[in-house]
Amino acid sequence: MALIVQKYGGTSVANVERIRAVAERVAKFKMLGHQVVVVLSAMSGETNRLIALAKEIQARPDPRELDMLVSTGEQVTISLLAMALKDLGLKAKSYTGGQVRILTDNAFTKARILSIDEGNMRRDLDSGHVVVVAGFQGVDADGNITTLGRGGSDTTGVALAAALKADECQIYTDVDGVYTTDPRIVPEARRLKTVTFEEMLEMASLGSKVLQIRAVEFAGKYHVKLRVLSSFQDEGDGTLITFEENDSMEQPVISGIAFNRDEAKITVVGVPDQPGVAYKILGPVADANIDVDMIVQNVGHENTTDFTFTVHRNDFNKTLDIVKAHAAAIGARTVTGDDKIAKVSIVGVGMRSHVGVARKMFEMLSKENINLQMISTSEIKISVVVEDKYMELAVRALHQGFELDKAGA
Ligand code: ADP
Ligand code: ASP
Ligand code: MG
Repeated sequence: MALIVQKYGGTSVANVERIRAVAERVAKFKMLGHQVVVVLSAMSGETNRLIALAKEIQARPDPRELDMLVSTGEQVTISLLAMALKDLGLKAKSYTGGQVRILTDNAFTKARILSIDEGNMRRDLDSGHVVVVAGFQGVDADGNITTLGRGGSDTTGVALAAALKADECQIYTDVDGVYTTDPRIVPEARRLKTVTFEEMLEMASLGSKVLQIRAVEFAGKYHVKLRVLSSFQDEGDGTLITFEENDSMEQPVISGIAFNRDEAKITVVGVPDQPGVAYKILGPVADANIDVDMIVQNVGHENTTDFTFTVHRNDFNKTLDIVKAHAAAIGARTVTGDDKIAKVSIVGVGMRSHVGVARKMFEMLSKENINLQMISTSEIKISVVVEDKYMELAVRALHQGFELDKAGA
């Protein structure tokens, strides 16, 4: 007997038929004698619909009220699944995040999980219930409903698996695993049988929406056995996130390509080239709880420098306001913004043992005449920022150029 946490995403619970299909899959695992905790997303499109409603009322919706609103999507699917399970003759009970007591901080719309009370779930599992938990949501110390950021149900799934010391966390979605890149953009993309935890972490952080980054972080921290599978297929091993590196000669240099259209770029022009400038610019941004991603400061000329950084597009206007408000104090000439950018990244632990990967990447992109606005590298990834209309071309060119479409690549 194993304890399994299964998370089903929006398309997997998009309507009543899909919810019944999930119930049948859960029933199969129960019949095999396993204990099952199910974590659900809202029906696909529902979270977007709710956010759009909020924006009709308030251009920048109040974060606490927004969380109150969007958390309802998951409440619909958990209750329906519990009913479907009961209809199949199983014992089942649904819980909101607050009812489990998934305690988070109070950073509405991007809360972090602080602790999970496993008492209720354990009791129900021991009495033969399937426990069905609303993904994406928690509760802060004052009892306010919080949400964990878009795609946050993955994080709920992995966090519950960690708290319950589950044998496996299965993420069911509309693709049958993690691919070399998003198969919607590159149809030749291939499923990876395994991907290292480190690579998955990079891919998620660089925009591969198949897993939310915090879910991967949790899996790493608590050594959760994590697998991505399709809820539309009966068979298949999906992709296993592994902790060991495959150091055989067959280790490909590049494992995957990630991209992200969700960023925007802010440039502070003509800043005095002095110590403390980065701190002065980014301090107020950090104080507003805004994450900064790429940062580039060019070589100063005439004692001034340009300072460019990227933030999530949702934070673009707010960041621009903050930086503009501080521009005079920083001594900057002007502040400009551009939200028509995209970030394209190649990822692979194999890069560690190969030289010239960046050169190859830049050559492939230059052949397509794509201008690189920013570049950043780490041991196992290279990212470039390009104009967003060239993003798909860049991804396809790199996928082909690094031969990721070829089996065994
Ligand atoms: P869910 O609603 O089940 O959470 P998501 O839409 O969040 O599903 O994530 C699954 C989607 O992630 C796929 O449909 C696919 O388009 C996209 N995706 C992006 N990068 C990858 C990748 N490298 N491998 C597989 N899918 C990817
Ligand atoms: N429903 C939430 C979203 O659309 C959480 C999730 O699906 O993981 O972002
Ligand atoms: Mg998702």
